[in-house]
Amino acid sequence: MNEKKWQLLPTCGKEAENLDIILACDGASSVGQIGNEVAVKLTREEEGARMCCITAIGAGSKAHTDIARKARRLIVINGCQMECASKILRNADIEPTYEITIAKEGVDKLPTLDFDAQEVERIAAKIVKDLKNLSAK
Ligand code: SF4
Repeated sequence: MNEKKWQLLPTCGKEAENLDIILACDGASSVGQIGNEVAVKLTREEEGARMCCITAIGAGSKAHTDIARKARRLIVINGCQMECASKILRNADIEPTYEITIAKEGVDKLPTLDFDAQEVERIAAKIVKDLKNLSAK
């Protein structure tokens, strides 16, 4: 493996104030996997966007709850209407800046890890647009 080709990410523990922290549920279904792939795409392509570990917040990690509290903006991507990622945050008394639920965006929740790349593109573009509109307010 050639590490020189790896895209190294900012350290969220040190730079959260300057980052849009993205928390995706990564559920084991079509919608969960689309949400995770959207988070990966935004992390790779959008300035200051950085996935972080929602599971660690669920596990009570102070380091990770601090990252969520300090984030420039906090973006939550849920797979389905269970909205687990949002609930984990609210259980920690943290309010997201922006939330989206893939299953409410015209995507069926199916018992598969496969998904349509066009759905990833469409939903990532919607999030970018929504965040621009939020910034403009
Ligand atoms: S929000 Fe839905 S897809 Fe995501 S972890 Fe919860 S049950 Fe699974």
